[in-house]
Amino acid sequence: MVSELQTRPAMDKILLLNDVVFIVTSQADNFETGASAPANFEFDNSFARELEGCYVPWGAEKVSEPRLLIFNCELAAELGLDACALETPLGAEIFSGNRIPNGAKPLAQAYAGHQFGSFSPKLGDGRALLLGEIVDTCGKRHDIQLKGSGRTPFSRGGDGKAGLGPVLREYLIGEAMHALGVPTTRALAAVTTGDQVFRETALPGAVLTRIAASHLRVGTFQFFAARGETEIVRQLADYAIARHYPKARDADNPYLAFFVAVARAQALLVAEWMSIGFIHGVMNTDNTTISGETIDYGPCAFMDVYDPDTVFSSIDLQGRYAYANQPSILTWNLARLAETLIALIDPNKDRAVELLTDSANEVSSLFVDAWLARMRVKIGLNSPEDNDVKLINRLLDAMHQGKADFTLTFRRLSDVLRGNGKSVRALFEDPAVFDAWESDWRIRLGREKVSARDCAGSMDQVNPIYIPRNHKVEEVLAAAVDNGNISEFQDMLSVVTRPFNEVSGREGYAEPGDKTAVPYQTFCGT
Ligand code: AMP
Ligand code: MG
Repeated sequence: MVSELQTRPAMDKILLLNDVVFIVTSQADNFETGASAPANFEFDNSFARELEGCYVPWGAEKVSEPRLLIFNCELAAELGLDACALETPLGAEIFSGNRIPNGAKPLAQAYAGHQFGSFSPKLGDGRALLLGEIVDTCGKRHDIQLKGSGRTPFSRGGDGKAGLGPVLREYLIGEAMHALGVPTTRALAAVTTGDQVFRETALPGAVLTRIAASHLRVGTFQFFAARGETEIVRQLADYAIARHYPKARDADNPYLAFFVAVARAQALLVAEWMSIGFIHGVMNTDNTTISGETIDYGPCAFMDVYDPDTVFSSIDLQGRYAYANQPSILTWNLARLAETLIALIDPNKDRAVELLTDSANEVSSLFVDAWLARMRVKIGLNSPEDNDVKLINRLLDAMHQGKADFTLTFRRLSDVLRGNGKSVRALFEDPAVFDAWESDWRIRLGREKVSARDCAGSMDQVNPIYIPRNHKVEEVLAAAVDNGNISEFQDMLSVVTRPFNEVSGREGYAEPGDKTAVPYQTFCGT
C-alpha cells in the first residue's frame, strides 16, 4: 500500500510504497500550489477513490510561460468540455499543470513492467499525472492525464519533463490512429512550457494532455503481484472489470473471463496495427493497456516498404519489437498478465495455472482470426473461404519481394478493379510478381457477390491513402520545434485525420520516403 508517513511542511515528503521508500524534496512543495481554476470539468475520480494504495497524490511542477499550442476542440466537445473556455490562456494554465481545475485529484500511478523482457518492479508515472476522470456525453469514462508535468516519486533519474517534438509526435500519430479506427489514447492539448528540457541538446519543453479509457496497464497488476499483494490485485481486477469488461462479472469465473476479455481486446488491437503497417516499437508490459488502447507513441512508426523484419527504434537492437514479432510479443505480454491473476483464479494453484494457460494459448488464434478479418476486407473479400489466408500471405510475400509500399499497395488495389492496374504494378520492383497474384485474386473475387465498383469503394474505406509518413512527420516536427512554425503540423494533422479521403493537391502526404535514404530511426519519447 502507499501510505504517507510524513507530510510537509515540517520535513520532506516521505512516501512508502510497500517496501519502497521515496524521499521527495522540492517538487513536493508544488503539491498545494495549484489554485482552483474555474472550468467545467465534472471530475469523478473513481481510481483515486477506489484504489487507494495504487498511487501517490501528487502535484505538477510550475512552468514559467504556458502557451496553448494545439487544442483538440472536436475531442473536447465529445468529452462534454467547454472548448471556448479552454482554448484560452486559462486552458494553457490548466493543461500545463499550473492550475488544477476544481474537482481534480492529481496523482501519480504505481506500475511495474517488463521492459525488453526484463522485469522492473517499480516504474510508475515518472512524468505524468492523472488529473481525474470525466464521463463523456455518451456515458463513457475517460482519464485526463498530463504527460511531462514534472518529477514524481516515480521519476528515478528522470526530469519528469517532455520535449515539444515527442509531445507533438504523440499528438499527431495518436490522432491519426484514432482516425484510422484503431483503439488509442488521444490528445486533448499540447502546451509549451517556456522552459527548456535537456536531452542531447536543450529543447523546448511541453506538456501533453492525454485522454485514455484508463491508464491501467499489465504493469499495474505486475507492481502489486510482484509484492504478493493479492488483495490489491483483486481490487484492481474488480475495478478493471467494472470499468472495462462489466460482462465478466457475471461469468462463472469472473477473473478468468476478465483475462480472456483483455486478451481479446489486445488481440484486436495488434491485428489493427498489423493491418496498417504500424510498429509500436516498445511493447513493454507497462505500455500494454488493460482497455486494449494503443498507448505511448515514443518510438512507433509506420512502415513504407513492406518488410516483416522492420524495426525503427534505435534501442531495439535485437528486433524484439519488429513488425512481424508484434503478435508473439502480445502473447508474451498477456502471459505476464495471466501470472498476476493466478491467486484470483482458483485456490488450487495448479488448477489456476491450467485454466490460465488454456486461455493464454487461445490468444494467438484470437489474433489470427482478428487479423484475417481485417486483411480479408483490405483485399475486398467479405465471405470467408479457407484459402484466404494463403492468398493474403502470397500478396505480402510479393510485396516483400517486390519492395512495395505497404499502404499504397493496398490502397491502389481498388484501382485495379476500376480498370487501372498501372498504379499498383508500379509499386513493385518486378511487377510480374504482382501479376501472378492478381490473376488468382480476380478468380477469388469472382466468387464474391458484389460488383467490382462497390468492392473498390468498400476497399477505399479500409485502406488509407494518408498515414503519418516518417519523412513528413520529421519535416513538420522540425518546423514546429526549430522554427516555431506550427502551421505545417496543423496542415498534416488535418490530412492524417481524414485518412481515407484522397484529396487532390495532397499527393505529397501520400508519398513514401526516399527508398535509398538512410533507414529511418526513432527514439523513445523522453
Ligand atoms: P516510457 O518509455 O515513456 O513508456 O516510460 C517508461 C518509464 O520511464 C515510465 O515509468 C515513465 O514514467 C518513465 N519516464 C520516462 N521518461 C521520463 C522522464 N523524463 N522523467 C521521469 N520518468 C520518465
Ligand atoms: Mg510508458
